[in-house]
Amino acid sequence: MREFEYLRMNTLQEACSLLSEYKDEAKVLAGGQSLLTLLKLNMISPSYLIDIKFIPELNYMDFDEKEGLKMGALTTHRTVEKSPLLKEKFTVLPETELVVASVQTRNWGTIGGTLVHADPIGDIAPPLIVLDSRVKLISADGERTVPLAEFFVDFFMTVVEENELLCEIQIPALPAHTGVAYQKFSTIEAGIKIAGAAAMVSLDDGLCKDAKIALSAVAPVPMRALKAEEILKGKPLDDRLIEQAAQAAAAEADPVTDMHATDEYRRELVKVLVKRAAKMALERARAS
Ligand SMILES: Cc1cc2nc3c(=O)[nH]c(=O)nc-3n(C[C@H](O)[C@H](O)[C@H](O)COP(=O)(O)OP(=O)(O)OC[C@H]3O[C@@H](n4cnc5c(N)ncnc54)[C@H](O)[C@@H]3O)c2cc1C
Repeated sequence: MREFEYLRMNTLQEACSLLSEYKDEAKVLAGGQSLLTLLKLNMISPSYLIDIKFIPELNYMDFDEKEGLKMGALTTHRTVEKSPLLKEKFTVLPETELVVASVQTRNWGTIGGTLVHADPIGDIAPPLIVLDSRVKLISADGERTVPLAEFFVDFFMTVVEENELLCEIQIPALPAHTGVAYQKFSTIEAGIKIAGAAAMVSLDDGLCKDAKIALSAVAPVPMRALKAEEILKGKPLDDRLIEQAAQAAAAEADPVTDMHATDEYRRELVKVLVKRAAKMALERARAS
């Protein structure tokens, strides 16, 4: 491994200033769960590692009905999994965390880190996308907010510039009669994910007022299945309509064949997972 200088940050301002100075010579270190593997494999060789893990300004979780949820980038998977607030307000997030890696990885890995790493098989992006999340990016030059659905650019690539930090994840409060669910499939428990699907269904007077479907591991980036969503919107939902939406989502997916599964198999899984997630979201919307 190439030698690098380790720099431990205490404030956001300090981190932004160094990122602005070192640009592509530096890498941000949060929980290190993905970054250390890349370093060990010599897939990256930064001159400086800027450790943000101890910046208190990036570690918080606030909620109010008007502003929704705001969570610092350093919030760990384990904090999300265990949060009583999230269990009450955004049940799908703690539920999803139960199928993310091991407790050790969840203890270290952060939500900011998993989003910026942008592995197309990541679990937390699809539920965050159907929850209409946005992320706040900050640099020495200012800040901007980007919808998560527009955050991922390509395999392991996001809109984050080399001088920017992801500092906050924002999720609006859920409207009444809304349900959200996530489903994934791996060939072995805790193994490589083959496909994943999240669904959000919002009801008004028995009709589907809004629907969102997001897929992972079946395209270079976590993606919305927009045609599938249109099939559901404005109609009374039943099994037949959900089946049609699931078929549309499978057609929209852009999976590859690799050593874990064929593209055809992944498409078939999308059908099954979208159906399961949409039915579960519908049940939850009816019950809420
Ligand atoms: C054994 C193992 C199993 C796993 N299984 C799963 C799984 O089942 N499901 C799943 O979804 N994920 C899984 N993961 C991935 C895991 O979720 C991520 O590795 C972890 O969340 C990354 O967060 P981190 O804080 O460790 O990021 P780091 O490894 O520190 O950083 C990752 C990348 O993001 C950048 N970065 C980090 N934070 C910021 C920030 N705030 N602003 C700008 N850039 C930033 C870093 O520079 C780096 O490029 C697994 C990982 C391991 C090691």
